[in-house]
Amino acid sequence: MKLRLSFALIMITTALFAQKTKTENIIFISIDGYRWQELFRGIDSSILAMKTYRQQDSASIMKKYGAATVAERRAKLMPFFWGTIAKQGQLYGNRDFNNKVNVRNKYWFSYPGRSETICGYYDPKINSNSYPNNPNENIFEFINKQKGYTGKVVTIASWDAVSNIVNRDRNKMPLINPFERVEGKLTEAQILANEIQGFMPNYFGESVRWDACTYAIAKSYLSANHPKVMYIDFADPDDLGHAGQYDFYLDAAHYLDKMVNNLWQLVQTDPFYKDKTTIVICPDHGRGLGKQWPGHGSGTAGSNETWLAVIGPDTPATGEVKSEGQIYQDEIAQTMAKLLGFSFTANHPVQPAIKSVFK
Ligand SMILES: [Zn+2]
Repeated sequence: MKLRLSFALIMITTALFAQKTKTENIIFISIDGYRWQELFRGIDSSILAMKTYRQQDSASIMKKYGAATVAERRAKLMPFFWGTIAKQGQLYGNRDFNNKVNVRNKYWFSYPGRSETICGYYDPKINSNSYPNNPNENIFEFINKQKGYTGKVVTIASWDAVSNIVNRDRNKMPLINPFERVEGKLTEAQILANEIQGFMPNYFGESVRWDACTYAIAKSYLSANHPKVMYIDFADPDDLGHAGQYDFYLDAAHYLDKMVNNLWQLVQTDPFYKDKTTIVICPDHGRGLGKQWPGHGSGTAGSNETWLAVIGPDTPATGEVKSEGQIYQDEIAQTMAKLLGFSFTANHPVQPAIKSVFK
């Protein structure tokens, strides 16, 4: 009798703790090299003042993104982040409130940043953007092995190194890199998305695709194929940052805000996704300050500072988090696993999930 009672107690406690999440689908969005400063403060007039960092006159840029207060400036630049995510989701990383998000790695550039984020693990060996296939298993291939998810996890990327970072050669999961095309039976929108990527100026070379083209492939794929997990990797802010074009960097952020808005609208109007999909967004590193704004890396102070946005049915609407705190990007992978009700294990240690993302 005693034994049975304790067994019942264990069952009740397990049921209490293994609360079922509502999230069945995840869209993970990486925005390469977009700073927390612009996200939380809007346009930086000290960078705008440097003529070498823009092609247009400052008055026309101020007309688009300038305003009297920080609240107005950031809402003008990122209306979806401030109008919707800040009301229905969470925004971490405003260092003006001592709320910090950082990469754990000591390199502060793209491959290591993405790798620690999707693997939940900082591997010091990953020290180059031309590092070959990632030996560390990532959250997406783990999810792809779970019941109901196999074949329903896809990556669409603006930068060709992403196939090495997720190690497509190992996991054979669908991935559409720059200038690759979605194959199979396609909708009109997918055919057009495949096509237009070849008609854009090849401004940054063969290894990257403009984010608008990556977006078109991603959005049409979501509508037509209903993947359960999608990783979208955007790159314009980093490319335009390195090019030292602050005006176009701001435009890129503004357009990405709108793209995320449109993806959220799609999610919330399609019954397949509605009220059971979480969107998680973060960059892979920050950038320098003032004159050093175009660059990043261990020699550029502040470029390990990042941010995190989450919106979905399991995440409390805390909005902009204004309390002191510290998140590292290697905590995001387990957070995504937990949102789907899984516990991520891999061929390496995995950092625990971010508790405050859950109700
Ligand atoms: Zn970069």
